[in-house]
Amino acid sequence: LLEVAGIRKAFGDHEVLKDISFTAASGSVTVVIGPSGSGKTTVLRALNALDQADAGVITIADVSVDFGKKVERAQLARFRAQSGMVFQSHNLFPHKTVLQNVIEGPVIVQKRSKAEAKSDALELLESVGLGAKADQYPYQLSGGQQQRVGIARALAMKPKLMLFDEPTSALDPELVGEVLRVIKDLASQGWTMVIVTHEIRFAQQVADQVLFIEGGLVVESGPPSKVLVDPTQARTRQFLQRIL
Ligand code: ATP
Repeated sequence: LLEVAGIRKAFGDHEVLKDISFTAASGSVTVVIGPSGSGKTTVLRALNALDQADAGVITIADVSVDFGKKVERAQLARFRAQSGMVFQSHNLFPHKTVLQNVIEGPVIVQKRSKAEAKSDALELLESVGLGAKADQYPYQLSGGQQQRVGIARALAMKPKLMLFDEPTSALDPELVGEVLRVIKDLASQGWTMVIVTHEIRFAQQVADQVLFIEGGLVVESGPPSKVLVDPTQARTRQFLQRIL
């Protein structure tokens, strides 16, 4: 479903992504780990073209973009619509209810009918355990609940690929579990996901493949039983020793 080939990205003369390539099968979970500043967030933002790569080709489902060439606006919009992003903190609209937050994209961007968007949204909110909170405002929810609304909001756009950028790193420790549980549920429902996280135990449970990124390169990739338990690269071992 996802094919990333030779992605490069520089900010000024700082080359953050040097040559990132990987693939992810439909229904698979890819967890991206690596030291701070290694380029993990930049990879996710490139996958969603929030920041366009300088070079490389990204294919999501049947949409392929060569970022080394000029990208037409319509093609870029089509590409962006293939994936949904969940950020470290949710960025919900504070003056809108939970339900209004979730239907905003489908109604405004996708021009779907309000009734249909609403019934989908209520189902999604139910599935993230927030069916009873539809009419509340973000400030009335805990951080973990807000983050789950953020997940429902991304799902509401029916993307092919879900991207999570350290979805629990801004949460109090006791709220991390509920958000990870929701992501695990999505994995078992067959969503294709790329997740940047420092939660190694979670990665072990949910990942089909783990990418260890350092210095803008994929240093090592493979199943979690290999990369997280018995890595071949010394740099991966050192990283894991530091954080475990
Ligand atoms: P962390 O785990 O700390 O979130 P990361 O691996 O996600 O780190 P990135 O956020 O991708 O790392 O950043 C990689 C490098 O790119 C960092 O040195 C960062 O300062 C730089 N960088 C990221 N975005 C920009 C930007 N918009 N302009 C300039 N430099 C940037």
